[in-house]
Amino acid sequence: MSENIKKGKSEKSKGKKPVFPKKDVKKGFKKEDKKILKKKDVAIEKAEDLDDSISSEEETIKGPVTSKAIDDWTPKTELGRLVKEGKINTIDEILDRGRAILEEEIVDALLPNMNVDLLMIGQAKGKFGGGQKRVFRQTQKKTEEGNKPHFCTCAVCGDGNGHVGVGIGKAKETVPAREKAIRKSKMNIFKIRRGCGSWVCNCAEPHSIPYKVVGKCSSVIIELLPAPKGKGLVVEKEIAKILEKAGIKDVWCRVEGQTRNKLTLVNATVDALKKLTLMKVSPEQRKALGIVDGAMKIEAEEELTAKAVLPVKEGTSASTN
Ligand SMILES: [Zn+2]
Repeated sequence: MSENIKKGKSEKSKGKKPVFPKKDVKKGFKKEDKKILKKKDVAIEKAEDLDDSISSEEETIKGPVTSKAIDDWTPKTELGRLVKEGKINTIDEILDRGRAILEEEIVDALLPNMNVDLLMIGQAKGKFGGGQKRVFRQTQKKTEEGNKPHFCTCAVCGDGNGHVGVGIGKAKETVPAREKAIRKSKMNIFKIRRGCGSWVCNCAEPHSIPYKVVGKCSSVIIELLPAPKGKGLVVEKEIAKILEKAGIKDVWCRVEGQTRNKLTLVNATVDALKKLTLMKVSPEQRKALGIVDGAMKIEAEEELTAKAVLPVKEGTSASTN
């Protein structure tokens, strides 16, 4: 029967002339479909290549990133010029006045002991179990030419002594995204207040935070509480990285909401840490809780000695020039 029908159809098509263009159109569609399929295959292959490249790059990312040579730096802003001339010696001078830092070299010059780390905000795609934590969050846009991948990272920088910054970078490739994130984290640096507000140990040393703070971002609500000495950071791993960079050693926490989304969780902790310096404190309370804003005094003296050494180096470089 089917043969007869086919024959009938073919006869009809042969008999009627206007049917031919329709067939051509259909054939044309089929050809386009084949082309799209080929493009999709190519896109999938590209995506697989990208996955391999990410895994190889991630290994190189780990560890502190070396700062560029400050001698070669030509400042573009007034603040940058003041820093390079040596008129501003501490970052607290800039942060207390609320001046915007628009060059990453300013922070590099004023805080030479800076450490940079990337947070695990993404996850690996499919295949062998998938879902493993990754530094890059990968997203895709579907287009006619195939899938266009985008990468997002979150970097944290800090001197481990009362200064931290968090920055997010997005780009079409992994390396520029990482560079953007690191640059933004340095420009977003802020001061942190430390102390000991724990009722278990009344040591008045700045190893924890002086009082409870609450931070919010979308659904996430995070509550940081002062903990006794030696307790450690009782928080999620990625938040522990931020607190470690800030110089806080002991903390308890309570979290609410969708903590699976790491970006909102990170933003909530940054909100909480910024609220630390907003509270007004009397000098008596400052003594009782051992409150320190920014860098600690003993280490500040060490910095001064280090700065006393630095001009000698500059002098030698000047003499050689
Ligand atoms: Zn204590």
